[in-house]
Amino acid sequence: METLEQLCEAGASFQARGYAFGSTGNLSVVEDGRVWITPTGGSLRNLAPERMACLDLDGKPLNANKPSKEYPFHLAAYRGAAGRARALVHLHCTHAVALSCLETLDEREPLPVFTPYYLMRVAPLAVLPYFRPGSGELADAVGAAAAAHDSMLLRNHGIVCLGATLDEAVDRAEELEETARLWFLMRSLPGDLGRPKLLTAEERGEIERAFRSKRG
Ligand SMILES: [Zn+2]
Repeated sequence: METLEQLCEAGASFQARGYAFGSTGNLSVVEDGRVWITPTGGSLRNLAPERMACLDLDGKPLNANKPSKEYPFHLAAYRGAAGRARALVHLHCTHAVALSCLETLDEREPLPVFTPYYLMRVAPLAVLPYFRPGSGELADAVGAAAAAHDSMLLRNHGIVCLGATLDEAVDRAEELEETARLWFLMRSLPGDLGRPKLLTAEERGEIERAFRSKRG
């Protein structure tokens, strides 16, 4: 039951801190080949372990609770990540959604690298085209991106962050939202005042080497 309590805590914490609101946002974890996912129609504020939906990786229901309508992309992400991911956080958090709605977004590099934490926890950030929430097309796009990405920005919608653990997926989602918030904060300054000092190629290389050796 510990896993389900962690899901409830993560949901309540996202809601309390303004990362999720209304009935938006959904979370899942994989345990022993079963996907536990937040239920449809409720808020992340008042989750309970006994209300979590359980599916197998092909979408067959394993209990009577109805999963979030966005469950198809959770399953697609786990299949696409081929065992690398065991948790998924999906949020409509304000600054990341604003970024996802910009007509001028650079889809190859949606956020420049101006902090080491973004590089360590989020980058590379995949940008996925807009598809109707809950659609098979969205699930296919998330599944394809999950082969090589733990962080995704869904155009005009929100974010998907994968993790080897729920904590990792939660940290990644928070870092992504915070980086988008900082980006808009800097861009709101007049003229050149808001131009970020980016990390140099050398600084980025140093982080990547240190991080890889820590991971490897
Ligand atoms: Zn959504």
